[in-house]
Amino acid sequence: MTIVTRFAPSPTGLLHLGHACSALLAWQAAQPDGRFLLRIEDIDTGRSREEFVAAAERDLAWLGLTWEQPVRRQSRHFGDYRAALARLDAMNVLYPCFCTRADIAAEIARSPTAPHGPDGVLYPGTCRTLSPAERAQRIATGAPYAVRLDVARAQSHSAALTWRDLDRGEQTAQPETLGDVVLARKDVPTSYHLAVTVDDALQGVTLVTRGDDLFHATHIHRLLQALLDLPVPVWRHHRLLTDAAGRRYAKRDKALTLQALRESGRTPAEVRALAGVP
Ligand code: GLU
Repeated sequence: MTIVTRFAPSPTGLLHLGHACSALLAWQAAQPDGRFLLRIEDIDTGRSREEFVAAAERDLAWLGLTWEQPVRRQSRHFGDYRAALARLDAMNVLYPCFCTRADIAAEIARSPTAPHGPDGVLYPGTCRTLSPAERAQRIATGAPYAVRLDVARAQSHSAALTWRDLDRGEQTAQPETLGDVVLARKDVPTSYHLAVTVDDALQGVTLVTRGDDLFHATHIHRLLQALLDLPVPVWRHHRLLTDAAGRRYAKRDKALTLQALRESGRTPAEVRALAGVP
């Protein structure tokens, strides 16, 4: 089977060494006869910048990578995510959530036993219990709302799910560890979880290559695939690069952007070695 894999940056800053590691591993996995895709995850239209898209393409080309055209830009495909959301809605596994961040924090403060997930305290489910009449009334008043997945209800639609991580082996999907995640934000008609799942399927991705920080997100993606009847790829969650103090590289580490490394005279081979993928 031809391997189809991808690198999917969000253009909210310059690429750094951690991105180089991810892109190079994906590109290598597609050699010699697989397909390597670049996807621009720019659903956050407020924070995404055209200049970062151009910079990412320049950096990746400088590293020696090539990718297929056209490059999928998520912000141009909101209709695809709306269609997936409508399918889920018809399955009765979604609910509108009117909570603000402050509402959620206050609710959590009131319930000291609020369950924790890998990314922190889980959404306490405040809006899950609103009656249909209350929902309709609040929507009618124009109150902004996000759309959440009712994970327990969604799980009742399928038997236990598994997925395969190339490094860690067979996993049992545990989407409940992330709680009722947002599938459409108040300001954007999708979320990371929905857009990435829809796109990987639409683009025929067979191997999802990404950092270990997204390992737990895969539990939710696997559930969404089952609900939407999408093909199931395999995953590779690679280790995250850290600095000498053991901290993860982040967009704030300006000296380690690929642009800064290039301008300081490093060669692509040196940067590939620094990224751990020579
Ligand atoms: N866009 C995500 C990021 O930049 C990566 C998504 C993925 O590879 O699934 O962190």
